[in-house]
Amino acid sequence: MSLLWRDPWLKPLSNYDLGAEKCSYCEKPFVRLEFVTSCDFCEKGIMHDKCANKHILSEHRKELESKISAHRDKPLHEYQ
Ligand SMILES: [Zn+2]
Ligand SMILES: [Zn+2]
Repeated sequence: MSLLWRDPWLKPLSNYDLGAEKCSYCEKPFVRLEFVTSCDFCEKGIMHDKCANKHILSEHRKELESKISAHRDKPLHEYQ
């Protein structure tokens, strides 16, 4: 099992900042309050957090697995 820690920082962005009014994955317009993120592996654009997870799991499983194995043996806070 691999648990992936997403950046816990919640950064409010306006539609203007994002340049996006709908999710690039499910194409539903964003409502008042959404958790969104972008893909770490391609330039797909802003997606709902859960859509990005689905996108990454379906489109980037190979990259994800190599990222996981590249980090597996390293301490969590390498720089400290
Ligand atoms: Zn979506
Ligand atoms: Zn992607």
